[in-house]
Amino acid sequence: MLSVADAQAIVLQHARPLPAEITPLSPAALGLVLAEDVSCDLDMPPYDKSLMDGYAVRSADLPTGEGELSVVEEITAGHMPVRTLNSGEAASIMTGAPLPAGADAVVMKERTESVGATRVRIADRPPRPGQNVLSRGREMRHGEVVLPAGAVLRPQDLGLLATVGRTAARLHPTPEIAVLPTGDEIVEPATRPGLGQIRNSNGPMLAAQVARAGGRPKLLGIARDRLESLRPPIAEGLRSPLMLLSGGVSAGKLDLVPGVLQELGVTPYFHKVEMKPGKPVFFGARGSTLVFGLPGNPVSSLVCFELFVRPALRRLRGQADAGPRLVQAALGEDFAYSTDRPTYHPAFLERCETGWWVRPTPWFGSSDLRGLLPANAFVVFPAGDRHHRAGEVFSVLRVDSDDVI
Ligand code: AMP
Ligand code: MG
Repeated sequence: MLSVADAQAIVLQHARPLPAEITPLSPAALGLVLAEDVSCDLDMPPYDKSLMDGYAVRSADLPTGEGELSVVEEITAGHMPVRTLNSGEAASIMTGAPLPAGADAVVMKERTESVGATRVRIADRPPRPGQNVLSRGREMRHGEVVLPAGAVLRPQDLGLLATVGRTAARLHPTPEIAVLPTGDEIVEPATRPGLGQIRNSNGPMLAAQVARAGGRPKLLGIARDRLESLRPPIAEGLRSPLMLLSGGVSAGKLDLVPGVLQELGVTPYFHKVEMKPGKPVFFGARGSTLVFGLPGNPVSSLVCFELFVRPALRRLRGQADAGPRLVQAALGEDFAYSTDRPTYHPAFLERCETGWWVRPTPWFGSSDLRGLLPANAFVVFPAGDRHHRAGEVFSVLRVDSDDVI
């Protein structure tokens, strides 16, 4: 059977970034991925700029740091100086204002005292040339790349793009992800389940996983385990760049999803991965549309999303690092465990002085979402009947930290 790593590699072979679009740089662009190198259209700062309120001076006039100068001008931010400073002269200057020609340093106001209206007494250490001045082009130079393709836009990046005059940029769009839970027994959460029925927890959970991973979920209702019920919403979902189905992919009589997908032109790439939970997971593609059939049990769906769907989604978004990045953690306590396949067991992961430690949490199996309450991760136990010892190191899949995005 296919290993998780091989299955992930197959998924990534078929996942391409969505074509970039020229997109306004509004707050809606937050978290999107830049598809061009953005360069600076001018020097920043565009002039030698004062970093302090105080007096622009010629450092050569103040070899001891003390002296009296004649104030020839007041320069406020947004205005250009008109005078060149000659020896013995200073200009009153505000933070952000351009330095006058002739000046090479700024003495902060707290080290000065006015003498009448036109003179200032300075009592400071000897000013260094360049003191309290940010010279032209120091932050960035005209033509220099300030934000490379692949950057995931943060608020400060949107500020930087505004600094270089950009109001729009080529960005990879937010992928629309179709979500279709299937099953005769599934009812909407607002309904009290009748005999043999169960509420649709996968729809809301997968939609939220999509949203957290930077996609836009499109819920397609619930399909029944009948060909006529499955075909129309699957055909609709295949118009999105990625479609997620839950249920109907196992070996049961009514597990019709893989057959319908193939009938509608989806090429299957794998159907079964050596893992627990989640073994029956299906992956295929039609053109550039990727399709995942996730096993219906909620924890199987959750784990398969994190292992296979999220990396694909990151690729569609244009992110270079598809993840998931597993951390290596030491087992916090002895744990006897018997399993026939590599198993993703709910666990609590915590930082410690030497790295990470992980503690498995009580769990009733792949339908037990409630059991995930104290968990923030899944620890991967290898196949076998083993008594794992405290301190042994295991791979751990994180599912609860913001930086998993
Ligand atoms: P299946 O993969 O269709 O064989 O479903 C496996 C198990 O998952 C069954 O016990 C289903 O009742 C349950 N299940 C399937 N779909 C959902 C869903 N949308 N929400 C909650 N449980 C589900
Ligand atoms: Mg089913």
